[in-house]
Order: sequence, then C-alpha cells, then structure tokens
Amino acid sequence: MVCGMDSSIEDASQARGADIVAQAQSPVGAAQASAAVPPASLSPSRASDFMQCPLLYRFRVIDRLPEKPSEAATRGTLVHAVLERLFDAPAAERTVPWARSLVPGQWDRLRESRPEVGELFADDPEGERLARWLGEAEQLVERWFTLEDPSRLEPVERELFVETELESGLRLRGIIDRVDVAATGEVRIVDYKTGKAPRPEYAEGALFQMKFYALVVWRLKNVVPRRLQLVYLGSGDVLTYDPVPADLQRVERKLLALWEAIREATESGVWRPRPTKLCGWCDHQAHCPEFGGTPPPYPLPVRSAGSGDLAQGRMGAD
Ligand code: SF4
Repeated sequence: MVCGMDSSIEDASQARGADIVAQAQSPVGAAQASAAVPPASLSPSRASDFMQCPLLYRFRVIDRLPEKPSEAATRGTLVHAVLERLFDAPAAERTVPWARSLVPGQWDRLRESRPEVGELFADDPEGERLARWLGEAEQLVERWFTLEDPSRLEPVERELFVETELESGLRLRGIIDRVDVAATGEVRIVDYKTGKAPRPEYAEGALFQMKFYALVVWRLKNVVPRRLQLVYLGSGDVLTYDPVPADLQRVERKLLALWEAIREATESGVWRPRPTKLCGWCDHQAHCPEFGGTPPPYPLPVRSAGSGDLAQGRMGAD
C-alpha cells in the first residue's frame, strides 16, 4: 500500500523547487572546481533532459548554469501548490471560489521560499502583468474542476517524494503530485500539467515520467499502479494509461541504458547537442555550439565515486 510511505508534504514541496533553486543560485561553472562525477541517481526531469539533448543535461547537472525563472514554469509551481493545499479542506468545501482564493496566498508563499521568482515582475510597477498572470493561474485551477471532482477524492498522498535503488545501484527519485488508493487497494498516480496535452504521436514521451513513477512505486511496494493519469489543465484533457509489469520492465531497461550513456558522456566529456524546436525554450543558447556559443571548460579528469543529480534532500519511502 502506498499509504505506508513515509512522506511530508512540506518537505516534498520544498524539494520540488530545490532543484531549480540550486541551479539558479549556483555560480556559473561552480562544478568546475571539482571533476565531473557520473550520477548515482536519476529523476524523470534529468532523464528527460538527457533524452532531449545531452548537452542540455551537461549544462544543468555538470556545469549547473543558472536558469531564469519563467512565467510559465512559475505559474505551474503555483497551480500545483494550490491543488495540493485544496485537499486540506473538508470535501464539501473544495469549491471553485475557495480554490481561486488560495492563489494569492500561495503566490506570497512561493515568493518567500524562492525570492528569485519575484524578479519576473520587477518591471511591472503597476502590477498589471502580475494581476493578469495570477488570473491565468486561477483559470487553470478552475479548469481542473471540469476534469476532476475534488469532493469525491481523498488522496492518500500529495507531493510525495519517492526514491528507490535498483539492483544495478541506480537510484530513482522524484515527486508524485497525487496518489489515490481505491477501497480495493488499487493505486492511481496523478500528475498535473499546466500546459496542453500532447498530440497522440507524442503521448509516449508524456507517459515516460508516469511510468518512471510507477516503476519506483512497484519497486518500493511491490504493487503495480492500476492507473497513471495525466491531467492537462492548459487544454482540459486527461490522459490515462494502465501499466502492466512488462511496461515497467521496459522503462527500467531504458533507464539503465540512459544511465550508462550518461556515465560514458561524463567520462569522455563528449556531450552532443541535439537541436530541436525545444531549443527555443533553452536558457543556454549562449553556451551552445549550435547557436555559435562555447560551453564552459569541461571539468575533467573524472572521479570514480558518484553523487546525485537532483538536489532533493530526504528519503521518501520505508
Ligand atoms: S540550445 Fe538546443 S542543442 Fe543547445 S543545449 Fe539547448 S537544447 Fe541543446
């Protein structure tokens, strides 16, 4: 049963932002003082980084180049916080007006825990852009009510930090937005996305993160989640998938191959750029050869011991 997991919602919320904060606060090239180290762990986001572009992974994990907070990503963090807190209220009080009313307070809380997000609106003295942005967050929260009914849900976990170690020694870790457990014991893993649902041909990529979490839960609890559910607030869609053990075994093989590829790149120093249309969202074009930039000096030679790729701080499983 997932409900046996040791979790702290507060810790998990802080952990969600910790990775971003660590990147934002680390000076450029902070990792260069010491040698590059192959990772001992993977999170879905870092695994996705490497699959999207190995050089992007290097910039984020090895070089720790700072990244500016974006309005879209920060709005996502804010909406997640509201949807987490929403379940603090008794079922009958989980209404749209109440959920919308949580937005300003959660924004204040986010600015306190991550002061750098305040820079997003530093050039908005009248607060007009901020008001519009907060209104968009409220609309996303309201749309969620058209997709799920919180008065009928009692999550077992929210913002659950999970971690497990595979037989190979690779640690998998991440934060699950919501875990529901039916009376039958069946487990549903839910993730909120503030963007739009992908086209069907890209659904597999979107499900990768969910299968990653399902694998972790399976390894921790010996239970294959019954359903994986992605809730897209941007487009009002819900994408579900019911995994079987063979799916999760495939994901495990894929992650091990990925881990090996990352290890090879770390040791050789060869991190190939993989330009796609996603480069438009990349903060590191100035350092990317594909855009005429030069990466920071690579921190060779390599040490043999590993350290994590994600600045999260607690064990989430018993
Ligand atoms: S700009 Fe594109 S190719 Fe270059 S590091 Fe970023 S994602 Fe990779």
